[in-house]
Amino acid sequence: MRVGGPARFFTEAHTAADIREAALFARRHDLPLFPLGSGSNIVVSDEGVHAVVLRMATRGTAYEQTPHGDAIVIAAAGEPWDGVVAETVARGLGGLENLSLIPGTVGAVPVQNVGAYGVEAADRIIWVEAFDAERLAHFVMTPEECAFGYRDSIFKRGGGKNLIITRVAFRLRKDHAPVTEYADIARYLADMKNSNPSPADIRDAVTAIRRAKLPDPNEIGTVGSFFKNPLIPQAAYEELKERFPECPGFPADGGLVKVPLAWILDHICGMRGLKDGAVGAHERQPLALVHYGGGTARSVRAFSEMVRNKVHEKTGIMPEYEVSFVGRFD
Ligand code: NAP
Repeated sequence: MRVGGPARFFTEAHTAADIREAALFARRHDLPLFPLGSGSNIVVSDEGVHAVVLRMATRGTAYEQTPHGDAIVIAAAGEPWDGVVAETVARGLGGLENLSLIPGTVGAVPVQNVGAYGVEAADRIIWVEAFDAERLAHFVMTPEECAFGYRDSIFKRGGGKNLIITRVAFRLRKDHAPVTEYADIARYLADMKNSNPSPADIRDAVTAIRRAKLPDPNEIGTVGSFFKNPLIPQAAYEELKERFPECPGFPADGGLVKVPLAWILDHICGMRGLKDGAVGAHERQPLALVHYGGGTARSVRAFSEMVRNKVHEKTGIMPEYEVSFVGRFD
């Protein structure tokens, strides 16, 4: 978001030995170890982070094949995510193309189980290697152990927060079928008269759509979606529909309904393009809050709390944050 204060200590990890050394340093100074990717999904408090911030700069990808002919790509945590997607697509491998152009590093991908256009990281991940800073040991976790949920995993909660993701393996199936049901993708492919898209065609579609719709973090302070889409019981959705008949809803796990928060912000709360000082809700995608410059972490937090409270007042739904706040915000 281009706000926030300094790290008490900051270092980069290029090797496994660097990670271990940082963990020992943090222990000696009685400070938490805070793993950082590229900072594209966090808001750091104005006071900064009272921790040893460890930027993951480990690089490298490796490819394997299963006996069934599926490809496995194993990527180091510090690899820029979109580079890995581009590399798999260039090799003609399908599976990650819907997740094109998402900012951030590989290590951050399992944390919030990133998802876009009908594909979630959890659909492709076969294992996650992590480093336990308490036990000073690496170990491998299955997807079940990662407890993936909607934009959620064990790495966001309790003891899971102390784990440092070091490598992630994704399975790219030989018989992969393109995922094209999201309206923007379907429309793009229809315009191109493309009924049999390759992974590269879908990557082109996602790239063009995202560039047209979303703020660019290289140009403005943004973390993409600031809130999760609410998952509500069917009965609550029916009630909402009675009041707002146009309100979209998509079936989600556990009999819940996923309601696009961007629609609520736009059509119920009138917040599309709303601006208060240095912070606002983006003109084309209000779920993305933007910092225009000159603001503080406190002002970002205040704006986001105002948004949540407004949604709650109008709909009874209190949106959950998707972004992670780092440091003190009281
Ligand atoms: P969109 O296509 O305008 O759709 C609005 C919302 O409705 C999305 O958030 C999506 O939920 C849901 N949705 C739409 N079509 C759906 C379908 N066929 N089945 C199930 N759910 C459907 O959304 P958008 O803002 O342009 O974003 C496109 C995709 O990129 C979405 O998947 C979005 O999550 C992802 N994205 C993520 C971030 C981030 O920072 N995490 C930022 C930008 C975009 P889902 O969000 O669950 O897909």
